[in-house]
Amino acid sequence: MMFERFFPDEWVESAYSIDYEGYFEAGYRGLIFDIDNTLVPHGADADERAIALFDRLKKIGFDICLLSNNKKPRVERFNKDVNVNYIFKAGKPYSKNYYVATMMTRTSVQSTLVIGDQLFTDIYGGKLAGIHTILVNPIDKKEEFQVRLKRFLERPVMKFYKHSLKEKVAEMPKNRKPESKAARMRRRKEKHFSVAERIARIDRLFNSRYT
Ligand SMILES: [Mg+2]
Repeated sequence: MMFERFFPDEWVESAYSIDYEGYFEAGYRGLIFDIDNTLVPHGADADERAIALFDRLKKIGFDICLLSNNKKPRVERFNKDVNVNYIFKAGKPYSKNYYVATMMTRTSVQSTLVIGDQLFTDIYGGKLAGIHTILVNPIDKKEEFQVRLKRFLERPVMKFYKHSLKEKVAEMPKNRKPESKAARMRRRKEKHFSVAERIARIDRLFNSRYT
């Protein structure tokens, strides 16, 4: 299936609901964040919630790099309150600057997570670089035309992704391939939920992204 190359490794509602402590425990050390609509609404300064998240992440022990296709003043405006590494005009989805980001954080592609709201830039680029990717739903659902157009284009891919997730949820354990540490973590987190609950969660995520 040609769409699979775009599928994120994980999909959650928000960058603020990720179990970062769990990932650190599983061996992850580096975080690459998109800014606009992943951490704050498009063009906004770091708000209290973002500042608190970055404090928490630094305390856990993560090394962080902001990776934005936006221009220097915008990225510096966000970074002035969180003080991490950053790359502007990153040219996502090209993988070059994902590698530069892992060098800046002195981590490796295996121990880094990419967190972003856009399938064809943040996530696809992370996959090309071989980094574990987490798709989040955009903070601001009323977006400018260009971004709405991209959402429209990604929608069929996300539909396929949604179906493949549901198939995986329904799959018997014996059919599972050997798991990555992130997949094992995800399963540990999800084992308390029934198949019906997990399918309902996938539908919730999809609907919240496209309404
Ligand atoms: Mg974004």
